[in-house]
Order: sequence, then C-alpha cells, then structure tokens
Amino acid sequence: MSQSFRCSNCGAPLDVSPETIAVVCSYCGYLNWIREDLKEEILVVKPLGEREILKKIEAFGSRKKLGQVFKETNLSKLTLVLVPFYLVDVSAQADYSANVVVSVRKCRREKNEERCWTESRNVFVKGVYGPYNDIVPVVGRRGSNVLSVRVLGKKYAVSRVEAVPLGEAKLDKDVWRGILSIEVDKKTAMDIALNEHLNRLRSIVTEVIKREAESRVMMRGEHVVGSTILWKRITPINVKAATSKPTLLPMYTAVYMYGGSIYRVILCGWDGEAIAFERPMRMSERIAWGTLSAIASGALGGLSGMLIMANPIASLPLLVIGGVASWYCMRKALTPVKTTVVEPSFRNLLNLELAIHGISSILGEIL
Ligand SMILES: [Zn+2]
Repeated sequence: MSQSFRCSNCGAPLDVSPETIAVVCSYCGYLNWIREDLKEEILVVKPLGEREILKKIEAFGSRKKLGQVFKETNLSKLTLVLVPFYLVDVSAQADYSANVVVSVRKCRREKNEERCWTESRNVFVKGVYGPYNDIVPVVGRRGSNVLSVRVLGKKYAVSRVEAVPLGEAKLDKDVWRGILSIEVDKKTAMDIALNEHLNRLRSIVTEVIKREAESRVMMRGEHVVGSTILWKRITPINVKAATSKPTLLPMYTAVYMYGGSIYRVILCGWDGEAIAFERPMRMSERIAWGTLSAIASGALGGLSGMLIMANPIASLPLLVIGGVASWYCMRKALTPVKTTVVEPSFRNLLNLELAIHGISSILGEIL
C-alpha cells in the first residue's frame, strides 16, 4: 500500500493493507498496532491452538469410524480464520387484527345414514403479541453468509463464551493473519437483524391469528377442520435493537488427503466441535441424491400445481423452490465430490436456518 509502515521494534518494513488492524513483524515477531483505536472496539473469542484442534479432529474421526483419514500425516492444510460478527439484541411487539374464515364440519343423522358437510365461520381477531426477543448474529462481511459461518454465529449466540477486547487478547502471533476485515457497519448490521427478526415475528403472529380464531370457534363446541386468513394487518410496535461490538469468532478448516480423496472438516474455533464435514461420495449416496431430486421436483411441482388453481401468485415461489431443489440434488448426484454432514448438535440450528432461509442456504455453501 502507498503508506509505508515500519516495525516499531526493529524498523523492518511491514505489509499493511487498509484493513490491517495489527501486524506481526516477520523479522522480529513484534506485534505492531496499525489501528490503535480498535483495541477496545473489537472483541475476540480466543481460538484453541492447532495442537488441540488436531486432537479434536482425531476424536471426531474415530467417532465417524474414519480414524485412518484424520491421522496427522494425512493433513494437507489447516487454516484459521476469525470471522467478524455483530450480535444484535432485538425486541418487538406486534399489533394485529385479522379476519379469518374457520371451516367446521357438521354432521347429521338421517334415518340410518350420517350426512356430513362443511360450513364456514367468519371470525375477527385483534390484539398485541410479544414482546418477542432474540439475539440475531449478523456476519460482518459481505458474501460470507454461507451456512457454516451462520451456524458458527448461532452457536455463539446461544453458548455465549467469553469475548475480550482485541487489545487484551494476547493472541498467538499466527492468529493475526487470519482476521477477516469488517465490511458491514453497526447500522447496517442492525438493519439486517431487524429485518430478519420482524419477518420471523410476522410469521409467528400469522400462526397466532389462525390459532386464536380456530380456538374461539372450538370453544363453541364446533369441530374445526381448518382456517384461512381473509385479510390481516400486522404492525410492529416498540421495536428496539442494540448491537454488541464487532466480535471475531474463530473457525478452523482442515483438509486431509487419504486414498487419493479429499476430506474437509470445518470446526468451531473455540471448542473444536465439528460444524460440517465433507467426504468423497459413495455410489449408494449418489443414487440416493438422484432419487431425492426426482422427488423434490415431483412433489413440490405437484403441490404448486394444486395451489395454482387456488392461488396463482402464492404458488410461484413453490415452483421455483421445486426447480432449485431438484437442480441442487441432481448436481449432488452428478458431481463425484462430497457430501456435507452437519454434526447432530447443530441440527436444530440448521433446521431453524432452513426454515427461515429456505433451500438457498444450502446452495450458498456449495456455490
Ligand atoms: Zn520487527
């Protein structure tokens, strides 16, 4: 870069970019701060050392019955990155009103036969839901919102391990190279978190509206079979958001070569838990993906076909998802590469993610 920096200990030139916060001198090993102002402004969760991580991977390998693969002699690359996150504490209530048509089943005995039919009840509901609170992790970089990174953020949001100011962290010298620069400012992070939170609030309240209308009809002793919202208004009120300082979360990626194939493990950097794992695909799995592809396009396509008759606009996204899902599975089936297995402890987080972001989050990981 244009401005030249020199080591304040030995005077050797330093390799500094506009994003550099601090740099370790490659001649004398002295830590030079370029952005003194960020010492307190950025927090970091300290990573486990490489030794400990390799031990964790070996233990993971023997649990997966792949002990041979994760021998240290097969290790081809171990990378540590520190990903910046904002943890945004969001709270909101929702003021709602809606008109719901609740379907009920009526039956009557006529001579020896029971005759049944459906009637509808119009129900008006209104109220205030919440406050609904959550801590939303937002990645502080553009284009880094892949699944494994988001899982890391979620894990941090629920486990809340200690984060210390960067200036006090006493990181190992080679950790500094892995720090990813922060590209998203606090305000943008809060906007992203709010948007995500309010979308979730809206879908929760939509469910609340239906349940409330249905239970009101049920209390009259009627047999409810379903409900449809005719119109609804959901207005967020008392919206509050506060963000943490940007926090660097460590993530390791390890690549192993074994039997001519590549295996990759992504681990949470502070406790060494495996987040995702890729291994060469077996033939049986390839066939399974192919089958899934047929089901995905068939089932979702069929469903949207039915919806088109009921509601042409709502069915469009389903058609698209069906197409993407089957394309994704086909791709999995045809490419002789890997499959990603997420550790059981992350499955709940993953399901939540999938529910929110749909199939696109898996695509993000692959593309
Ligand atoms: Zn130096």
